[in-house]
Amino acid sequence: MSVDSTPHHVAELGVIIVAAGRGERLGAGRPKAFVELGERTLLEYGIRTVTGLPGPGQLVLVVPDGCAAETLEIVETVVPGGSSWQVAVAPGGRERHESVRSGLDALHDSIRTVLVHDAARPLTPSAVFERVIAEVRRTGDGVVPAMPVADTLKRIDGTGLVRATEDRSALAAVQTPQGFLRERLAAAHATAQARAAADPAAQSAPTDDAEVVQRFGGVVRTVAGDPRAHKVTGPVDLLLLGGLLGESSHDERIAR
Ligand code: C5P
Repeated sequence: MSVDSTPHHVAELGVIIVAAGRGERLGAGRPKAFVELGERTLLEYGIRTVTGLPGPGQLVLVVPDGCAAETLEIVETVVPGGSSWQVAVAPGGRERHESVRSGLDALHDSIRTVLVHDAARPLTPSAVFERVIAEVRRTGDGVVPAMPVADTLKRIDGTGLVRATEDRSALAAVQTPQGFLRERLAAAHATAQARAAADPAAQSAPTDDAEVVQRFGGVVRTVAGDPRAHKVTGPVDLLLLGGLLGESSHDERIAR
């Protein structure tokens, strides 16, 4: 669908890529999203995939202090002039949920559906984005990509002793992008922020957006995830994804 002539302000779809983590567990000496996999930074893969989706849309890149110029350079190289995607850069926060709030604040008023995606999942196929978008539009609920759990899961105590085996058929590992109606996600984050300010010890920091929405009564459903949406946490993850890269061309990889 070519919609290059459509003014950006009518974009209904917004995607926030959170890329402001310090990446200490990776130990690369630079923020994780700016570490290279093959010849590209992790962030560049996400930018290519999102701006390859049918527009119009707004992409917000949430990056650490001091990385805005480098980010804009990547955008200039990767996003063709006349793209139906408009790209903005926003400053990151100390915790992931603070970075998401910064991204939400940067969205145009016209955005109704919003996806939040980790830059640390560079090889997520575009089909996962499309599944999430379609399900949010169909249901109005929160939507997360989910994978069955392959390992047997044990509940352990503080000393490392196994106390129980969990029923893994009732468990899933969830990925990003996670999609929501913009007003619901923004309201849930605003409520979470107000409660945390009133009583900082009340709840631990949420690790994904579905948790923020669910804490305040929102419905979250799942669509099929994809192993290629694997998250880079430590050095071994870069090796794993590097292996995937070697197996197919980038275009094949992000196609389906
Ligand atoms: O640290 P973790 O791997 O859980 O981070 C998931 C994603 O959230 C990463 O893409 C990271 O850059 C982002 N993040 C962020 N701001 C933070 C912490 C993490 O944008 N303060």
